[in-house]
Amino acid sequence: TTTAEENDVVVIGGGPGGYVAAIKAAQLGLKTTCIEKRGALGGTCLNVGCIPSKALLHSSHMYYEAKHAFANHGVKFTQLEIDLPAMMAQKDKAVFGLTRGIEGLFKKNKVTYVKGYGKFTSSSEVSVDTLDGGSTIVKGKNIIIATGSDVKSLHGVPIDEKKIVSSTGALSLPDIPKKLAVIGAGYIGLEMGSVWGRLGSEVTVVEFASEIVPTMDGEVRKQFQRMLEKQKMKFLLKTKVVGVDTSGDCVKLTLEPAAGGEHTTLEADVVLVSAGRVPFTEGLGLEKIGVQTDKAGRIIVDKKFMTNVPGVYAIGDAVPGPMLAHKAEEDGVACVEFIAGKEGHVDYDMVPGVVYTHPEVASVGKTEEQVKEIGVSYRVGKFPFMANSRAKAIDDAEGIVKIIAEKETDKILGVHIMSPNAGELIHEAVIALQYGASSEDIARTCHAHPTMSEAVKEAAMATYDKPIHM
Ligand code: FAD
Repeated sequence: TTTAEENDVVVIGGGPGGYVAAIKAAQLGLKTTCIEKRGALGGTCLNVGCIPSKALLHSSHMYYEAKHAFANHGVKFTQLEIDLPAMMAQKDKAVFGLTRGIEGLFKKNKVTYVKGYGKFTSSSEVSVDTLDGGSTIVKGKNIIIATGSDVKSLHGVPIDEKKIVSSTGALSLPDIPKKLAVIGAGYIGLEMGSVWGRLGSEVTVVEFASEIVPTMDGEVRKQFQRMLEKQKMKFLLKTKVVGVDTSGDCVKLTLEPAAGGEHTTLEADVVLVSAGRVPFTEGLGLEKIGVQTDKAGRIIVDKKFMTNVPGVYAIGDAVPGPMLAHKAEEDGVACVEFIAGKEGHVDYDMVPGVVYTHPEVASVGKTEEQVKEIGVSYRVGKFPFMANSRAKAIDDAEGIVKIIAEKETDKILGVHIMSPNAGELIHEAVIALQYGASSEDIARTCHAHPTMSEAVKEAAMATYDKPIHM
């Protein structure tokens, strides 16, 4: 079959980049079709990423709190147990509801949804092998590649999604592993390590670099690592995996110091490979129409998200930049705004990053290391949650707010928060940065009491003057 009518916009990929671009394009009055091969919308994020991981992080946190914290609040149980299938079912229910929700939004906005694998036949035509076994041609004046990313495999550590799993397998393990080895101390490894650690696994994280989450502010990172160690997560930094033996009941990883040296062995029931993600453009036919990619396989685009082929655009995880769902969404909106002849805008210096462990770590703008590197004189203001009344009231007071501001102008350059719900608290700082605010602007803004947000205000006071409660 052939879709005779030409679209204004065709989006390949229905993840946060693609589905948001499709809805926005339709809202701007453009005739739009979105092609998705998964059979469900929402991409990596909704199906095997952000959403299921946050569901399991919440469920496992509830268990951990029940086990370790409830008694302090006078709530006692005689028996506590984990029903893993029920926990997984709650996660699946959340995912299913949300994917259906996006289908509803497509209908509401009149986006045509084609389920199947798209590949370019020309720069204005995509042929789709549909999931029902047929095929169709979709034509578009503009085509947006939003095919996202996939797990980066590690040489010599083949993923079977049973004993050696990717994040996808780690989101639906059938049993709680006694020992879990995590390769890679990025946010995905630490989040999934936290989930299974809270449920009882002994978690060891192996990381080649000398530190965890390299993008994090150094001072915050140190405190964060200590917090995770308190939760019994073990770290083997500056260590590489050089071999794997899956022949026995458990997996044996052969480790070597990053700088070379004697081998050691780490045994685990399950190994999670979380050493990064790579752009996914397989079978898309990029070479056929001549779309350029860089060495890492990322599609090269200009400021308007256009590739070197006129009319073909790319966004999200498939292009350079932070591989985050909210960044993909921003790309999607800006890209279709350009297509519609409007101005689009994404400020990549102000994309917040969050690690959803407990406590969470959230940041926006520059780290202290980055500020030093650009050679600006700066001030730092800090406030610990130990001195925040709400955090003390709920007995969850580990963490800190750190604000970095330019010395001369007091303009905020970066904010780093480690606390429960830091991922929510950070948005006050994101707005502040976006509006070019000074630390005094935040400090003189009335904050409700008693809230965790008051720690942000106090850290701002500490940046340009003195805090009250420290
Ligand atoms: P994707 O979400 O990867 O979507 C691309 C879609 O395109 C896929 O559904 C794919 O099936 C489809 N596709 C690919 N090729 C074709 C084709 N040829 N034809 C048709 N369809 C095709 N980010 C956050 O911001 N916050 C988080 O908390 C977070 N947690 C994460 C946890 C995990 C475990 C993982 C793995 C990722 C997490 N991420 C998180 C990252 C986030 O998922 C990605 O940044 C985001 O999904 C990128 O969106 P995208 O639209 O570019 O690509």
